[in-house]
Parts: sequence; structure tokens; C-alpha cells
Amino acid sequence: MHHRPVEFSCTTIDRDLPLRVTIDANQNVKVAPGPGAAVTPPKDQWLISSGLVDLQVNGYLGTDLSDPNLSVEHAESFCRQLAGVGVTRLLPTITTNSHQALIASLRRLSSLSEESDLFSRMTLGIHLEGPFISKLDGPRGAHPREFCRPCDLNEFALLQQAAQGLIKVVTLSPEYESATSFIAEITRQGLIASIGHTAASPEQIQSATQQGAQMSTHLGNGMHTEIARHPNYLWEQMASDELHAGLIADGVHLSPAILKSIVRTKTPQRCFLVSDTTSLSGQPAGRYRDSVLGDVEVTDDRRLVIAGQRLLQAGAYKPLKDAIPIIMRDADVSFTTALKMASEFPAAAIGHRDSFPFDPQSCTGDFIVFQRDKNNRCDVKLAVVNNDVLFSNLD
Ligand SMILES: [Zn+2]
Repeated sequence: MHHRPVEFSCTTIDRDLPLRVTIDANQNVKVAPGPGAAVTPPKDQWLISSGLVDLQVNGYLGTDLSDPNLSVEHAESFCRQLAGVGVTRLLPTITTNSHQALIASLRRLSSLSEESDLFSRMTLGIHLEGPFISKLDGPRGAHPREFCRPCDLNEFALLQQAAQGLIKVVTLSPEYESATSFIAEITRQGLIASIGHTAASPEQIQSATQQGAQMSTHLGNGMHTEIARHPNYLWEQMASDELHAGLIADGVHLSPAILKSIVRTKTPQRCFLVSDTTSLSGQPAGRYRDSVLGDVEVTDDRRLVIAGQRLLQAGAYKPLKDAIPIIMRDADVSFTTALKMASEFPAAAIGHRDSFPFDPQSCTGDFIVFQRDKNNRCDVKLAVVNNDVLFSNLD
């Protein structure tokens, strides 16, 4: 397909370094130092930064990533929709289900990675959230109780085989005796054990980090509504420097005080933002049927809940970029830090510190170009991975 060549200038967010972006007729992208042609519209400067990295995505805008029949076309349109909201890399996330259902979902994701270049490029691996999590109400969140089970290396080996080795992060609960050897073994395999949906004791949390656990999944969510004041699994994870914390900063899942407390305690570098979106995220208000969760509602104020009540969340509604103004306001961090919490910090948390975040000196890496409004919302103009345009809205 022939495209009109484009050239424009933009500025890095930290150092105000002017860069020139050119896209030729074959959609090859080049970034170079120095200002370029006039920006349209000229009134606001466009900014360039690393693409967003979302380590927890169950789906978005009608696409369910656990659907065993997800077509290549559908998966690719999902990828472009996500790139349109600034996400250039993600971990498709599969949640607690029966063994057979998990096998089917993981098989489909691994074959999509073979069938679609776009899907495989954006996918950094799979996040398996469950099934080795707490059965208890509160900690299990919306995961179906009947399928929550103790950590099992034999079952995991079958799941990883179905995924063709793509599982990268496993959210699990250290409350099970089998968790210790499980965490040690998957860590030895180069995977990341992430503590989440847990009722573990502080000692069990400590033992998990000693075995190599490196992450907390959506810290502050997937908990009992009431817990012992201290010690408890929340303080223990907040105080553990080994654990990078995933945070759902959507204005619904965490109150401003807890969000600020976690970010201040851990430091922003050890926190990363996740969307936790599902197929219903971005959909109009109403009642929907989810294959795993049952009846789910999108409320008028754009929240995703188990139908018939308002306390139990069924995932998050907003894309990752919408967390940027919220974390700035609630945790009092700068725009630059907030952007890094949604891009470079999650990349670093899974071992990609330097492999693809954008480097303004060498002009290499994944990037997005966007316009920042006065409320710190980002309007994405361009998303690029490996010099390929995933999304553009430059006119
Ligand atoms: Zn969860």
C-alpha cells in the first residue's frame, strides 16, 4: 500500500530534545536529532516517549484474549486498537479456569504468535494469573472458586507446553505448601513469580521472596475486605524491596491514600501501572455475559462489576494511558515519572530494562508520539515498534 511521506518534529519529555520523525511511502520510520518540518496542528508540541507496556491485559473493546477461537484478524485489530491508546508491548493475561479451558486458551495464544507477526511482536509473553491462587472470598476476587487450586508443577508443565514456552509471569498465592518449590522452580526456569490473590501469612510472603518471587500482582486488590492491622500480607509486600508492585490506577481499584502510600514506600521505580482491562473495557454501559465470570455489568460511571452489586470489581474499564493523570494526582509524581511507570518500569520489571524502551540519544527503541492536554491526558498520534507503524493518526 502506498502512503504519503510524512515528516514532523517532536520533543522528548525529560530533556526537551527536539527530534525529527520521518515516515516514507513504505511506512519505514526514522527518528533523528534536530527539528523537522512544521507540526500540524502547530499550536501544541507533540511529545515522544517509550511505548506503553501493559503487563496485565485480559482483553479490550470486545476482544477476549482467553477466547480459544480468537481469529488472526480479530487479534490484529485488537493489537491496533491497543496501539491506538499507546500500548506497544503487552502480556496477554489468562485468568483462573479449568485445566482444559486454560490449555485451549494458551494453545490459541501460542498459535496466534506463529500466525501473526504483529501479535507476536507486541506480545512479550503470557501472564498466567491463577489458577494457583487463594480459594477464599476476597483474596480470590472475581476468579471462580471451583477452579482456584494449590500450586502444581506438573499441571504448570502442561500449561507451559500448550503455551509453547510463552508463559512469562505467573500470579500465584504463597499460602499453599507447594508454593515454595513451585516458585523456586519457575524462577530457575527464568519466569517471574508474582504474588497475588493471596491470603498468605507474612512468613509465607517472606519465604516466597526468598525463593525468588519478584512481583506483586495489582497490590492492594484481590484482598480480604478486613484484615489484621499488622502484621499482614499487605504490609509485608509493601516493605519487601524484592517485589515490584503492579498497580491498577484507574481511580476505582485503589483509593488515593493507598496508591500514594505504596508508591512512596516502594519508590516509583519499583511500581508499574497495569490496565487489567477485559473484553468489556471500553464498551457501553449495560449487562453482559462473560464466559468465566458469568453476569457482569458496565455501570453508568464506567466501572466493571459482577452484576447485581457494586463492591466486587470484574476487571478494569480504562486503558493504561488513562492511569497517567490519576497516578500524578493521587501519588504526586511528575508526568515523566508517571509515563515511565507505564512504560520503562514495567519493561524493567520483566527483565527488559534496555531492550526496547526508547533511547533519545541513539533514537532507537519503541516509541509513541502524542499530544498532552492540560489534564495530562495523552492523545496518541503514532505508535511504532521495530521501526514499524502500528498505529497512526497524524492528520
Ligand atoms: Zn486479579
